[in-house]
Formats: sequence, C-alpha cells, structure tokens
Amino acid sequence: METTVLTEHVIEMTDQLGVNLTLIKGTKRAILIDTGYGLEAVLPAVDAVCKVPFDVVLTHVHHDHALGAMQMGKASLFPEELQFAERYTDEKRRRKILRDSGICPSLPDYLTHQMPDWQILKEKTIDLGGIHVRILHVPGHTPGSAMFLLEEERILITGDNWNPETWLFFPEACPLHVYKANMQNIMKLPFDQTMCSHRKGLFGREVLEAFLDGIRKDAIYTDRPYPDLADYPQIRPVEMLLPLDQRIVFDLNKWKPEML
Ligand SMILES: [Zn+2]
Repeated sequence: METTVLTEHVIEMTDQLGVNLTLIKGTKRAILIDTGYGLEAVLPAVDAVCKVPFDVVLTHVHHDHALGAMQMGKASLFPEELQFAERYTDEKRRRKILRDSGICPSLPDYLTHQMPDWQILKEKTIDLGGIHVRILHVPGHTPGSAMFLLEEERILITGDNWNPETWLFFPEACPLHVYKANMQNIMKLPFDQTMCSHRKGLFGREVLEAFLDGIRKDAIYTDRPYPDLADYPQIRPVEMLLPLDQRIVFDLNKWKPEML
C-alpha cells in the first residue's frame, strides 16, 4: 500500500492495483473512504498513519472499492448499494480478481472470508475534530454512490462518480443526462479541488467543470468495446472524448440527447 499525505487532514493510500483509499483524519476521529480490492492488509496500513479511532465508509459497493471491507468489522454505504453487494463481492468475483491480477492475497481465506455487517449511510455532516465532512448521496456511477465534501479544506472526493475516465455503462449506472444533472448540482458546493478513485492526487475544480461542460448532445462518441460484458448483451458501451484528455464511457441504449 502506497501512502501519500496530501493535506493536513487527507492521506491517500493506493493499493497494488491502483485503487485509492482515502483517510480523512481529525483530532478526535477519522474515516476511511473505500477499502480497495482487499488483496493487501488494510488495517496495519491505516494504523501506521492514524492514531485516532476510525470508521469505514464506501463510495459504492463495486469490488475494487468494497472487497477490502472483509477485513473490517463493519462498513457503511448508502442502502441503494445493498442490492449489488452479493454480485460484486461473491466468490466467483474474487476468483476472477486473483486470476486476472496474479497477486497472492495477504488474507489466507480471501475467497471465503465474510463481508462485514453493512451499516446504512445517511446524508449528514460529521465533525472529526478540526475538519467537517459532508456526506452526499449522488446517483451516477451507481444508484447509491457517495461523495464527500471536506468543508475546511474545500476538497470534493468523487469516488467513481468522476475520474478523468469515468465509467457509466454498467447496468446499475444512471443514464448520462441524469448523471450530468446530479453532478451539476454538486458543482454548487464550495470546493476548489477534487480527488477521485483511479488517479492519484488533487485536481483543480476546473478539470471537473470542463469534464461536465463537455457532455453535450452534439458531442462525438465512438464504440468502446469492453471485454467483460458477456452477461449483459443489452449494453452498448460508447466513449465520448472530453476536454483535458478526459472521457466518459456510457451505454448508448440509455442515451437521450434531447434530455441534455
Ligand atoms: Zn465503480
């Protein structure tokens, strides 16, 4: 696990497969946002940099964010994610991850270890001591996607709702026009920087602004075949190229340009 101190309160931890876990640390408590694939020991990595008690929250229940939670007693997510929890964390999924990654997991019973007791996340602002975190429910990448606003540091944590390459083509993703409307709502919040799950570091707000502005009904898109969609023959993934070398991949069958 690679650990990078980004600000006074934010530590970014990146697992071997390139997924970010984010630790928000106050003087009283901390929260760990996402847990990675769980192929590495998460708790010792957190304990090495965090001396206050911490809670675990997930941006959503996709395997690359949620499977590390099998190492935790409990983890919180928005209730809309519960319906996908089994699909994204079952043994078949874990076998595929081991096969594709070639990494030997630190937990000996990785294939069979139970997921934690899921706790229900609610929209609210929490005081960690010196830093307030506002928890936001923003349907987009998934119906129960969570985002986080660090009020004093004016940082927005997007999870998979925004990456320079954003995926919106899985069956559980919102249509593009719904996603854009929800994200434009978020742009009203006071933040100057963002951080995401699949790229390291902080980005200026203008990068996300350019991304959303680029999603237009007359924007050009092209086919973007994705190899793992055998279970979903109804999906046709296409890719829209966006400013600053960004892109969004969405399902053409849910495309309603007149709604943008
Ligand atoms: Zn995801």
